[in-house]
Amino acid sequence: MGAPLTDRPAALRVQGLSVTFTGGPIEIPAVRDVTLDVGRGEVVALLGESGSGKSVTARAVMGLIDEHTRVDAEVLMLGDVDLLTTTTEQRRRLRGERMSLVLQDALSALNPVLTIGDQIGELFRVHRGASRKQARRHAIELLGLVGIPGPGQRVDEYPHQFSGGMRQRILIAMAIALEPEFLIADEPTTALDVTVQAQILELLDSLRTTLGMGILLITHDLGVVTEVADRLAVMYAGRVVERGDADSVLTRPAHPYTEALLRSVPQAAQRGGDLLTIPGSPPSPGQVPPACSFHTRCHMAIEVCRTVRPPLEPVAAGRLAACHRSQELLNGVPA
Ligand code: SF4
Repeated sequence: MGAPLTDRPAALRVQGLSVTFTGGPIEIPAVRDVTLDVGRGEVVALLGESGSGKSVTARAVMGLIDEHTRVDAEVLMLGDVDLLTTTTEQRRRLRGERMSLVLQDALSALNPVLTIGDQIGELFRVHRGASRKQARRHAIELLGLVGIPGPGQRVDEYPHQFSGGMRQRILIAMAIALEPEFLIADEPTTALDVTVQAQILELLDSLRTTLGMGILLITHDLGVVTEVADRLAVMYAGRVVERGDADSVLTRPAHPYTEALLRSVPQAAQRGGDLLTIPGSPPSPGQVPPACSFHTRCHMAIEVCRTVRPPLEPVAAGRLAACHRSQELLNGVPA
């Protein structure tokens, strides 16, 4: 892989990851040649519209795939563990112990008939051999850590007795219970109102510092990215089309898709120009246009874009983009 774009110890290294759906009459490539890395104590955002392959990438990394999905990769390392050679059972143990996934739908992820304390405590009983009393104590500590008021009382309550934001905090508590080095948060704030969303992002931000976790934050929301991401990878039609440190990508995008995403956010557009909506919609995985997959929607497309796929390559220090016209974009040349 190219050198990692961070000098922090790696929590996750992915190179050449492809995911293919094999269940239908033809194989459908959902993710192609994704390379990314997440350092300890770092938040990397994976940004893109729905259907871009973000969540499929996350599930492939976690090993949460069914028998109709094939995962290929050149490198897939969790710290010092080679995930390409682990057994299903080893991968299952790694989930929770060393890597965790937080999803957006907290209510369906929690068991409605068990108290929060029992659900968190079970992790300590199963993975750490803790007694019921020890597990309860850990659960109370964790609820306090993620900002649940009165954890000593609330530990005995059931999921429906908590608000959506509090349930999301509980899911995060469960995900970090065993202090994994790597956490994937897949649209963790989508269902929440703006204030609670900000609180959850603050919580994730503080946890990566307190626990030194690497966090891969999957989102379609640029506001979320600007809040907490150190670095950013933008996905389109199953491929990463731009990578780099979040500030420079968001200030000076090198790919028209990133630029279009930025200009479709009212606040960003006010700073940088007209509000733009991206015409059309992302292609479904089985119908990705040839060459540059964005050419059917791109206001900068030229002939070569329809015939030659641009490789993801360095365009500036610490920056990669897959576009024939990245340099023009970076130099501010109008299309
Ligand atoms: Fe647009 Fe061409 Fe760049 Fe693709 S390669 S993003 S079509 S300018």
